[in-house]
Order: sequence, then C-alpha cells, then structure tokens
Amino acid sequence: MGQEKGKLCEEYEILDILGRGGFSVVRRGIKKTNGDEKSSHQVAVKTLKRFGSGASASTPSGNFPRPPRVGTGKTIASMEFSKWNQISISDALLTNEILVMRKIVENVSPHPNVIDLYDVYEDQSGVHLVLELCSGGELFDRIVAQERYSEAGAAAVVRQIAQGLAALHKANIVHRDLKPENCLFLNKSEDSTLKIMDFGLSSVEEFTDPVVGLFGSIDYVSPEALSQGKITSKADMWSLGVILYILLSGYPPFFAQSNRQKQQMIMAGEYNFDERTWKNISSSAKHLISNLLQVDPDRRPSAEQLLAHPWVIGDSAKQEQIDAEVVSRLQSFNARRKLRAAAIASVLSSKVLLRTKKLRTLLGSHDLTKEEIDNLKTNFKKICAKGDNATLAEFEE
Ligand code: ATP
Repeated sequence: MGQEKGKLCEEYEILDILGRGGFSVVRRGIKKTNGDEKSSHQVAVKTLKRFGSGASASTPSGNFPRPPRVGTGKTIASMEFSKWNQISISDALLTNEILVMRKIVENVSPHPNVIDLYDVYEDQSGVHLVLELCSGGELFDRIVAQERYSEAGAAAVVRQIAQGLAALHKANIVHRDLKPENCLFLNKSEDSTLKIMDFGLSSVEEFTDPVVGLFGSIDYVSPEALSQGKITSKADMWSLGVILYILLSGYPPFFAQSNRQKQQMIMAGEYNFDERTWKNISSSAKHLISNLLQVDPDRRPSAEQLLAHPWVIGDSAKQEQIDAEVVSRLQSFNARRKLRAAAIASVLSSKVLLRTKKLRTLLGSHDLTKEEIDNLKTNFKKICAKGDNATLAEFEE
C-alpha cells in the first residue's frame, strides 16, 4: 500500500458504478500513469461513506470490535483506542473493514482467492479502498447462467472458497459474513478464479459483537453467532456448508416463514435432505454437508481439512449434469435475494433524512414477508438510534 500520496482523483480516473452496499458505493477506476495519461490497469474503488454525524456521532451502546493497536495518525484506520467509543455504527463498520484489509495485505496477499487491496485514500466523503477489480460476476449469477452444471463444478467452487478461507484462517482472520454475494469471479473466462471479499464484519481476533447479521439475511449465519457465542474460524465453515447445500439443491437448508423460526432451526441444526431433491446427489456430498452443518463448531472440519476431502478434490463428485430443477430453483432464490438486498441497500445508503420516506415506499411496494418488514424496521430503528434521533421520531409517527 502506498504511504504518501495525493488525492484519489489525481491518481485514478473514476468511471461507472459497479454496485452499492449498505454503507458503500463501488466504482470502476483506471490508474493514471503520467499525469492524466491512463494505463490499462483497472481497479474497483469502494467508497465507505460516513453518514449521520460521522466521527463525532453519539456513542454506540454495543460492544464494537476492539481495533488492534495501530500507529498514531489522522486517518480513521489509525484512530486512537480512546476515540473508538465515540464513533458511529457506520464508522465502526468502515474502520473494521480497513483494519481487516490491512491485515490481509500484510499476511495473506497476494492470494488467488482473496481480494487484494492496492491503496487507501481518505477524504471528506469517506474512505476509498482501491481494490482488485472482479469483473466476472457473483457466484450464483454465474452458476445459473452456465449451460453445464455438475457436482464437479460445485466442488471446484467449494475448493476455491476453502483455499481462500484456509489462508485467512491461518492469518487469524474470520470472515464472519461469508455468503455467495461476497464471492466474485475475477473475470469472465470459464476457468476464472473466485475471490472472497467484503470484510466489513470480519474479525482479526476472536470476539463477539451484535453487528453480525444485523443488516442481511441470517441464512448463512452460524448457530454460535446467533446465540452470541464465541466466534471462531469454524463459523465460516458453517456458512460454506450452507452455500454448498444451496449449490446442490437450489434452496437453503433452514427455511421457515419467520426469521425467529429460522433462527431456532439454525440453532438446533434442524435441516434435512429431502429425498425428491437429493436422491441424485452423491452420498459423499451429503456427508460433507452434514459435517459442515454441525451445531458444535469443534466438530466441523477446518478449511485445510476440507481441502483433503474426496468430494472437494473432485474424486467423488459426480460429473453428470445436475437436475435442471435445481438450477431453476437457484435462479429464483437468487432473484429474490437480489430484490431484498437492493431494498436494504437502498434504505441504508440514502441520506439520513430521506431514509424514512424510502423505507415507507419499499415496505409498500415490495413483496416482503411480515417478518422481513419487522426486521427491516428494527434494523432501521437501531441505525437511527445510533446517529439521528430526529429521523427515528419521524419514523415512529
Ligand atoms: P453491505 O455493506 O450491505 O454488506 P456489501 O458490502 O456486500 O454490502 P460492497 O462490498 O460495497 O457491498 O459491494 C457492493 C457491490 O459492488 C457488490 O455487490 C459487487 O457487485 C460490487 N463490487 C464490490 N467489490 C467489487 C470488486 N472488487 N470488483 C467488482 N465489483 C465489486
């Protein structure tokens, strides 16, 4: 990472928007070589926005991740420990992401299956992470677009994720938010590598905090995270088990009408291999899923162990085409997920005073279940409570 440098726009030309997250916007960029001259080196610039009253916002009540002791300086990434309690929820998340990315650069990069960070800039609008560009699309998008899809293809995906996790875990980094939308292909080629990204909720040390699962779906969240237990690298192995289950069936293992019910099922490890869907899937794959989806984290295999499993290596993974029904279910699961993600990102990313109206519009126009609406409201209230009470009052009207 560069140390002394000018402004982002002096060194990169910023182009189209690639995507938006709850607290971020990601744009394509091109490195300028000499002055304004452009190189062919394209990057992704993820801008982590500060919003609400920013660094001077009200004190969060939760136990936010304790930052590693870092050098003094003016950037948020090196904020002094004593100031940590004064930052808002959005700043806590963005600071955490920067700290974890720094640790990745120091201990993991370059790794074919983990996103690389090239540079960091900070200005009034927030922090800009200059990242490796992944132009090959999200994991499930690519799978549903494939003409041929087999267990062997799914095993190749699991292998890449496990390789990335093994490197992260070796560096004591737990991702904690592993899900298909955080796995992007580097390019559009058929044999493109898959990259793990989005370290906003990750941890360098072992600790728990209430932020996990606050904004997104709990589909991939481990029982120990839901019960606020000790989070270790095995939490990522659970999430990988959920991803694998969906890859081979097209639906999630824990499925319920309400989030509360779903939470109970996850915590009890209550799922099954429905005969109609699973009859053609190899017993080796089912055995692997059963190992990963064990409530006791100590019983789950590590990423290293997974890499030696016969199905993951490809030896026992079937080569035949997977049933078309699986792919079509995966397609609708993916489409529903995208709609929800867009709704939530839209609420979170709009300006504080516009959020209430946005939320009302979204709640009125989208096909969300009552439970999802309640969750959205609860999360929205929590966010407002951290930074802007006026908005909360307006919401309560
Ligand atoms: P949230 O904060 O709500 O969890 P997020 O953190 O998953 O959202 P981001 O990581 O900000 O969202 O990414 C938003 C979108 O930008 C992603 O869905 C992805 O499509 C795109 N994106 C992120 N990083 C890259 C990258 N390195 N290359 C290409 N596209 C990217």
